[in-house]
Amino acid sequence: MQNPDLNLERGDIAAKFSYIMKKMNRNFVVEVDAATRKTLLHNKIKLGWQVCRIEDYLVASRCYKCSRFNHRFRDCRGKVTCPLCAGPHTLKACTSDSKTYTCINCVNYNTYNPTKNISVNHSSLDRKCLSMHAVIEKYRLNTEY
Ligand SMILES: [Zn+2]
Ligand SMILES: [Zn+2]
Ligand SMILES: [Zn+2]
Repeated sequence: MQNPDLNLERGDIAAKFSYIMKKMNRNFVVEVDAATRKTLLHNKIKLGWQVCRIEDYLVASRCYKCSRFNHRFRDCRGKVTCPLCAGPHTLKACTSDSKTYTCINCVNYNTYNPTKNISVNHSSLDRKCLSMHAVIEKYRLNTEY
């Protein structure tokens, strides 16, 4: 109702969930169809007293058992791999401190992309993980809008 210029109709936007980032920014995740997405990405939305920016919400799904991307725990055929230090144990059993963190996905990334040689000295949960960004970028390229 606050954004009549967008010509949205009831049902164009389905609320999913919200979360708070640093600096007390609240993010709302909604599901929309391709046409609505285009409209939203090219506009700002008035919401209460705020003007909101719209971005794609993309996350890489990571397996809890082997810490690799793109499959679920249920479908895992890998070995138990610690997401913090890449050792053969679960996250709970990990005794490594942050100085010895090793990202299993970036280790693998370097194996498959020997010319890149990205940093592996972080946990595979790290938001700055480059192989995770590569996975998300692939999602973006493979998603048809
Ligand atoms: Zn797995
Ligand atoms: Zn560990
Ligand atoms: Zn990484």
